Amino acid sequence: MTMTQDEVLDIFKRSNALLEGHFRLTSGLHSERYLQCALVLQNPGDALRLGAALAEKLVGLAGKPDLVIAPALGGILVAHEVARAAGVRGVFAERQDGALRLRRGFEIRPGEKAFVVEDVVTTGGSTKETMEVVAAAGGVVIAAGSLIDRSGGRTDLGVPRAALAVLDVPTFAPEECPLCKAGSQAVKPGSRA
Ligand code: ZN
Repeated sequence: MTMTQDEVLDIFKRSNALLEGHFRLTSGLHSERYLQCALVLQNPGDALRLGAALAEKLVGLAGKPDLVIAPALGGILVAHEVARAAGVRGVFAERQDGALRLRRGFEIRPGEKAFVVEDVVTTGGSTKETMEVVAAAGGVVIAAGSLIDRSGGRTDLGVPRAALAVLDVPTFAPEECPLCKAGSQAVKPGSRA
């Protein structure tokens, strides 16, 4: 079930989850690439394959977990598919009053080993926050993973970590954007140029 980075990115491109061009992001910055993981996960067969490939990498790094956990919403389907492949339960933490917590009766028992997964890691902030949820419940995070690592591999989470594809996606202030300087017009992702 091993997949190369190119195979992974081809799946993303096929569902328009990875666009290449000249985009104006929500932050106002410009970029040559735009990533929307929900579009790849809308296809259950692709979600299953990607989850199995990520599970294989994580189990190879850290052994089998007792559960897989993700931050809602973006990570839920990833946790579900990685958990399916690993044969363990998949849960999610969600934000309540500003902090991530376990709700809906989800439990992590003391000493249980967890993978923390997400769709995309940029700074690793929500993975770190989910790791704290596991630790607060007495669980042990043995590895962290994401479908895509957008930090160029630079994020350090303090545990073994895997991604199916590592991207270095530079963003530019509009006045410094080389694409604008070359005369092209940035478009909002999803809109038609
Ligand atoms: Zn631009």
